[in-house]
Amino acid sequence: MTELPIYLDHHATTPCDPRVVDAMLPFFSFNFGNPASLTHEHGRRASNAVEDSRIAIARFFGVQPNEIYFTAGATESNNIALNLLAPGDHLVTSAIEHKSVLMPARRLEQRGVKVTILQPDREGFIAAAALREAMRPNTKLVSIEAANGEIGTIQQIREFGTLCRERGVLYHSDITQAAGKIVVNLAEADLASWSAHKLYGPKGIGGLYVRRGVRVEPLIIGGGQEKNVRSGTVNVPGVVGMAAAFRIRKDEMAEEGERLTELRNALWDRTTSEVAGASVNGPRELRLPGNLNVSFDRIEADSLILAMRRFSLSSGSACSSGERGPSPVLTAIGVPEPAALGSIRFGLGKSNTAEHIDMLVGDLKRIVAKLREISAA
Ligand code: PMP
Repeated sequence: MTELPIYLDHHATTPCDPRVVDAMLPFFSFNFGNPASLTHEHGRRASNAVEDSRIAIARFFGVQPNEIYFTAGATESNNIALNLLAPGDHLVTSAIEHKSVLMPARRLEQRGVKVTILQPDREGFIAAAALREAMRPNTKLVSIEAANGEIGTIQQIREFGTLCRERGVLYHSDITQAAGKIVVNLAEADLASWSAHKLYGPKGIGGLYVRRGVRVEPLIIGGGQEKNVRSGTVNVPGVVGMAAAFRIRKDEMAEEGERLTELRNALWDRTTSEVAGASVNGPRELRLPGNLNVSFDRIEADSLILAMRRFSLSSGSACSSGERGPSPVLTAIGVPEPAALGSIRFGLGKSNTAEHIDMLVGDLKRIVAKLREISAA
């Protein structure tokens, strides 16, 4: 096997922690029961594992276990959350949401839901004042993410939640990029979505928090699992793995966050001082620990990513990569098109070290200069 590049794309996904894999393994072949089969020991064991996991995850967020629902991931959770809207209702969301919020919002609009899309400021923050102004008597739901996966901006979701509560409006937050990375306070939210694979858990499993008393409209109906919010046999190994991932994050998140913030700030300072024509997009404070987004003057991100062979890099959301054109997030914060097309999103994670930053800056210096030479020739 050839050696893999150094992974610097932890916003797209993270490796499963080996301790997570260990926790999951018995639930594939030994404790393989269906958690809905409560007439026998096999089923009861699976059910106990699922309910213990629900308790662990609820504890992580400081909410009640019966407010946590298991889904196939954040895309599904976001879709379920927005599905509570009916024609005539008003939704407020932002221009920098993930597509799994923006696409359902667009479809709802075609079906008679009124939609307001808030614009961020230059650093990606959504102003609470803008949200207040956007509210109307028929506003039913506000959906604004906790943190952005491209530029790392951490929103003041507490303020949004308070504003919504004062007006009797439901507040949903896509916390996919924030969960397990920074402290997320769900006390002020009514709904929240996440995926386990962003926090060193498995893919294809995620959750939806629904505050008690809030009614959602299921998308997938059938056997009535997850109290009818999401039918289908529960992914037991996935749930167990997600809970293990949250347990680990609970212990390791704070220290890891500090370490990554230091590495990220070192990368920030060194790229902007050592690589000519490099500028950072997004804020210095209130930014996800492992995130850095840099525009390189007179560089095409695709060419730079290809040439940076020692690293696994991306220019933005994995769900949008493959599409041509500038990132909608960078466009929304006012980055001009040429700069947006020359931007790389660095996503640092658990495996990255100071040595990786040294190698990265060295390669960037050399390769950016070389690419500019070629394009000027
Ligand atoms: N929301 C955000 C903010 C994300 O970053 C992602 C993953 N890129 C999703 C939702 C969707 O997650 P999944 O693909 O696991 O459903």
